[in-house]
Amino acid sequence: MKSSDITQKAHKLIQPFRITNGDKFRLTDFDPSETLDLNAEDKPRVKEALAAGVALLAELQDMLYARSCWGVLLIFQAMDAAGKDGTIKHVMSGINPQGCRVSSFKAPTSDDLDHDYLWRCAKVLPSRGEIGIFNRSYYEETLVVRVHPELLAKQKLPPELVTPDIWKDRFQDIRGFERYLTRNGIIVRKFFLNVSKKEQKKRFLERIENPDRNWKFSTADVAERANWDAYMEAYEDMIRNTATEDAPWYVVPADNKWFTRLVVAAAINETLKSLHLAYPEVSKEERRELVVARRALLAKK
Ligand code: ATP
Ligand code: MG
Repeated sequence: MKSSDITQKAHKLIQPFRITNGDKFRLTDFDPSETLDLNAEDKPRVKEALAAGVALLAELQDMLYARSCWGVLLIFQAMDAAGKDGTIKHVMSGINPQGCRVSSFKAPTSDDLDHDYLWRCAKVLPSRGEIGIFNRSYYEETLVVRVHPELLAKQKLPPELVTPDIWKDRFQDIRGFERYLTRNGIIVRKFFLNVSKKEQKKRFLERIENPDRNWKFSTADVAERANWDAYMEAYEDMIRNTATEDAPWYVVPADNKWFTRLVVAAAINETLKSLHLAYPEVSKEERRELVVARRALLAKK
């Protein structure tokens, strides 16, 4: 397949992975090694198509920034070694750092725990014109915190608020928060990089065997594999409850990095295109001022 054909097909590429209504969502319906009708032989063309996607993204971002009207929040969630960091790095490689901010959310600090859980995320939301990337996010509150009840116990919540309904409550609050952002012109798109347990093992082994990758390895991540099924259940419930028309989830196959990146770039581009961006128009008055300024510049040394 030619790279231009792949670019043309971008819309079709993302459709199967986009969830706007979670009612019938089942994670097992999604194959982490899916590559649609592309295979390893198409890889060079996929790389060209991805480069074209990255260039288009840079152009769209420039207009987003110039217009300073819409903001875009991109949320990345995944199991360890699913390729969050690499995807963010590759897909955003062409864009102007001035209009982009990446925030990584690790275990909360004591200051974070003194506040409601959205607080630390709300502080770094993208402004108008900006693309904000969350490497992990408030969704961890329904994932790691759900899988490890001891984390919830440390959250200093008033005990009467910790009921069996807490996850349902959190989903409702998150849906409300994302609707609020959307109504303010901050567009929300969420990506779950769906890696298989088998591929994760392969990548952990690679981190051990390759000295340049040793720094990425953590024994705690390996221990966390014991909770794999609990995480998958938590992810499924999260997507069921928070996939909406306004703030969809993309369940991106993540066993093949080239395919993950292609889908993510296509999804971001489609989102930006849907905003019908254009450079701000200059009024007649302003154009007259430009003519005067040009004349003045040319007249003097
Ligand atoms: P890397 O690819 O470098 O491992 P990472 O995103 O996994 O990147 P880590 O330094 O391993 O980064 O730290 C993230 C850890 O913080 C994860 O284990 C995550 O579950 C945890 N974490 C994030 N948010 C919360 C939260 N709200 N409560 C508890 N733990 C959290
Ligand atoms: Mg980690």
